[in-house]
Amino acid sequence: MLVQPRIRGFICTTAHPQGCAGQVREQIAHVRAQAPITGPKNVLVIGSSTGYGLATRIAAAFGGGASTLGVCFERAAEDGRTATAGWYNTAAFEQEAASAGLYAQTIVGDAFSRAIKDEVCDRIRRDLGQVDLVIYSLASPRRTDPLTGVTHVSAIKPIGNTFANKTVDVQQGVVKPVSIEPATEDEIAGTIAVMGGEDWALWMNALRSAGVLAPDAVTVAYSYIGPALTRAIYREGTIGRAKDHLEATAHALTADGLRAYVAVNKAVVTQSSSAIPVVPLYISLLFGVMKEKGLHEGCIEQMYRLLAERLYAGGSVPVDEAGRIRLDEREMQADVQAQVAALWDLVDTDNLEQLADLKGYREDFLQLFGFATEGVDYGTEVEPVVPIRSLED
Ligand code: NAD
Repeated sequence: MLVQPRIRGFICTTAHPQGCAGQVREQIAHVRAQAPITGPKNVLVIGSSTGYGLATRIAAAFGGGASTLGVCFERAAEDGRTATAGWYNTAAFEQEAASAGLYAQTIVGDAFSRAIKDEVCDRIRRDLGQVDLVIYSLASPRRTDPLTGVTHVSAIKPIGNTFANKTVDVQQGVVKPVSIEPATEDEIAGTIAVMGGEDWALWMNALRSAGVLAPDAVTVAYSYIGPALTRAIYREGTIGRAKDHLEATAHALTADGLRAYVAVNKAVVTQSSSAIPVVPLYISLLFGVMKEKGLHEGCIEQMYRLLAERLYAGGSVPVDEAGRIRLDEREMQADVQAQVAALWDLVDTDNLEQLADLKGYREDFLQLFGFATEGVDYGTEVEPVVPIRSLED
């Protein structure tokens, strides 16, 4: 099958198996080129197939030799459709892990459900005994509450006032005004139910009750703060309320005797961030500035730093005044933000290519689906059906 990108708005409905495998290998190569991590031995990554979760799994496995169990929601290839990128990433990750003699298993299903939590606890008990690091890296538009059966839907909206600003249509290269009405109370509650900390706490309680959590285990969930420019739509909007809840959950889990952290990561192009209005324009300006200053990072650079320089550097874990691990310090540097803010005022369709790193944004977007890997001949037919080793057992 000849696999080409088929982009619909902010998603791509196809993925390239070899391209995805290539970008997984690039992340592995990055980690292998760094100093080894004396870190966790058995790691559970919830949301393991793309973005920050995949990068954490790679850093733990190839930087520290950890056994990893991943949970993700991905689709295999069928009826002439390619698999999802996360499927191909996972297949490649497991293949590389096997070649390196590392344990790697993946459970594909709804992480919000009770059934998947039980399956994960059973698998840990059977194969690993206990886990000493649990990464919570889910990003989802909806969640069915396992107790009530109610499906909650998240919304990316401002709270209180209409948000009016600029945004970019990345594919067309057009800067245009955007106006988003404030969220209703239901939309705020729905977003907190999906992206807040409720499910994280359910996971930690399930793991602890099953006796599969090591006594000194650490758990980390991911958050974002971002600049004044995106504040009304992000941190002070519905998603920000969910992140506040996630951070409060870290405190509640800590009070309950667990070592729970929230790590604040930098803005990067992922399937989730490309769906947030205004953020792609901010990211493409940010990337230009950070690359110029030699500060640019993707998921893998940060997740290596999270393990090597924050969680397992020896000594206490450095946190900010609110108890959060910060990996966004380069993005939030005053000089970086001042430059992005100045460009923001100037940017329009005519000067977009000059002022913003739209090329870099587009390339990262294509690479989410494996369409920008060096050395892959995209004009050659490929077999879309690729098994994930641990699902074949
Ligand atoms: P992503 O879309 O790349 O990854 C989401 C992961 O969740 C995938 O592995 C997917 O399979 C999994 N998933 C989604 N629904 C699931 C379900 N029901 N069951 C099982 N797995 C499911 O997202 P990302 O951008 O890496 O985001 C991960 C976390 O990092 C989020 O909390 C996000 O807010 C945070 N974060 C992202 C950015 C950014 O710029 N992208 C910045 C800072 C923090």
